[in-house]
Amino acid sequence: MEFSDAIKRAKEELKRRRQNAEYEASFLLDSLLTYPDITQAYTNLRRQEVEFIKNKHNGQVTADDEKNIKISQEKLDKLLKNKGLNYDKLNPQYKCKNCEDTGYVLGNQCTCLKELIKDILYGEYLTVNKGRFEKSSETLPKNRQLYQLAEVFCKSFPHVEKKNFLIRGHTGVGKTFLADCIVNALTDKNVNVISVTAYELNKMFFDDFFAEGQKSLMDVLINADVLVIDDLAKEPIYKKISLESLYSLLNERQLKEKSTVITTNLEVNELLSRYGESIFARIANKKTTHILVLTGEDKRFG
Ligand SMILES: [Zn+2]
Repeated sequence: MEFSDAIKRAKEELKRRRQNAEYEASFLLDSLLTYPDITQAYTNLRRQEVEFIKNKHNGQVTADDEKNIKISQEKLDKLLKNKGLNYDKLNPQYKCKNCEDTGYVLGNQCTCLKELIKDILYGEYLTVNKGRFEKSSETLPKNRQLYQLAEVFCKSFPHVEKKNFLIRGHTGVGKTFLADCIVNALTDKNVNVISVTAYELNKMFFDDFFAEGQKSLMDVLINADVLVIDDLAKEPIYKKISLESLYSLLNERQLKEKSTVITTNLEVNELLSRYGESIFARIANKKTTHILVLTGEDKRFG
C-alpha cells in the first residue's frame, strides 16, 4: 500500500473513533436525561456554568459561584454513581487522550496516528477480530485447557451438548480474544455468528424500543446461530429497556436452542444481583453453559 493511502486510511479511522466516542457520549446523555432527577441536576449545573462564564466576562465572579458549581457537580455525581457512572463519563471517551483522536498535538502527528499508519502499512490493522486459536500465545496450563475446550466446541458445532459459554475473568486476561477465536473458527465453518459489545447491544435495544414496529434488528439478533455479547456489565442499565430486552432476547434464543457466548468481568454473584434471577438463569446455567474462568495477569500491558 502507498504511504499516502495509509495516511488517508489512518485519518479515516481516527475520524471514525472520534465520531464514535462523541456519539456514545451523546447517546449516554440522552438516555440519562430520561430520569427527571438527573435532568434537573444536569440543567442546574449547566445553568450555573453559563452564569459563571457570564459573570467572569463582566468581572463579577463571586466565591459563591464556584462553590455552587461544586455543590451541583457533587449532587449530579451522586445520582450518576447510582447508575455506575461519573460526570467525566458524560464527556466523549476518546481512545487517545493526548490528541482526542484528532491525530495531531499542537500541529504535530500524535503517536497514535503514527502507530496506526504503521499498522495499516503492515496490514495488521485490517484483521478486525484478531483472535484465532492457532495464534493464541496463552501459556497458563489452566487457560490452555479452556482454549482447547472452546476449540473442540467449534469443531463439533452444531453437534454440541452445552450450547453456551460464559467467559469470566479480570480485565486483560484475554476474554475478548477467546471470544474472537470462537467467532473466527465458526465463521470459517459458515456458521451465522453475530458479535456485539454489550454496549452496542444496549444501544440496539434503545433503537428498537423507540422505533416501534421495527422488529427486524431484534429478529436478526434472535435468529443468529451464535450471538457473542462481549463485556457484559460494561453497559449502563435502564431497567425497563435494558433488562426487559436482554431477558426477551436471551429467552427467545434459549427457546430456539441458539448458542450465546458472553464475556464479563463480573463474578457469578455480581451477575445475579445486577441482572436478576431470570436473566441469570439464562446466562449461567451449568447444564446448558460452559462457564470458563480465565486467570492470569493483565496481558494488555505485558
Ligand atoms: Zn493521539
